[in-house]
Amino acid sequence: MVHGKVYLVGAGPGDPQLLTLRAAELLGRADIVIYDRLVGKSILKLAPKTARKIYVGKRSGKHEVPQDKINELLISCASEGKIIVRLKGGDPFLFGRGGEEAETLAEKHIDFELVPGVTSAVATPEYAGIPLTHRDYASSVGIVTGHRAGDSGKPVNWSKLAAGVDTIVILMGMESLEAIVKKLAEGGLDPERPVAIVEQGTTKLQRSFIGKLNTIVEMTKKNDVKPPAVIVIGEVAELGRKLAWFKKNKR
Ligand code: SAH
Repeated sequence: MVHGKVYLVGAGPGDPQLLTLRAAELLGRADIVIYDRLVGKSILKLAPKTARKIYVGKRSGKHEVPQDKINELLISCASEGKIIVRLKGGDPFLFGRGGEEAETLAEKHIDFELVPGVTSAVATPEYAGIPLTHRDYASSVGIVTGHRAGDSGKPVNWSKLAAGVDTIVILMGMESLEAIVKKLAEGGLDPERPVAIVEQGTTKLQRSFIGKLNTIVEMTKKNDVKPPAVIVIGEVAELGRKLAWFKKNKR
């Protein structure tokens, strides 16, 4: 069988300018682009007009294409001998199921390559002036999923996290924010601990909010904060007040 090659490519956090040169180059010669919901439309324009573009994210009111269907799609496209760019928001190996897709490809002996992307876990706090580490405030970071289902068979141990790391970064956490806050408080996290939320980070729609563990739920309700958003819990969140630079300076 003729096999193509699958590139598992990170599309960055939103702003198309944060795409890597490698990603842009591969898109430029892709035969097929298979992309997720959080991939910006202008990034897709880097692919040839003739390239087949297949959306596998969530459609309004409907579920995402199941992972096994995506895996099948990758295999069938590769067996056509094509160059396939599997484009994912942020970095493909951080809550992007890139690991699962790479496993499928490895098992089927399909040639693949990983192209790291700028992850929203780091970039969106950064665009809100929040460094995840700082010599005075944080020497450790934990990046976790806040997804109700835990996104996998491995649930997050919130109380260990509360006690174990200085900065907690939560992806996919907006829908369960209230429950997460409760679990962290039960795990002993100070109710006065600073919390920041960055919505639609690195895009023109970016908004950020800084509060405390015991005020953040109300704050997000009042401001109608919606996904995609990154939640940062820890002393560093306060620095966002001093270092917010994005809307002021980017030109
Ligand atoms: N692989 C991706 C993460 C996928 S999980 C990465 O490395 O960034 C999807 C979650 O990422 C969203 O629920 C949200 O928490 C976060 N996210 C992605 N893009 C974002 C953005 N522009 N602004 C804020 N959060 C974002």
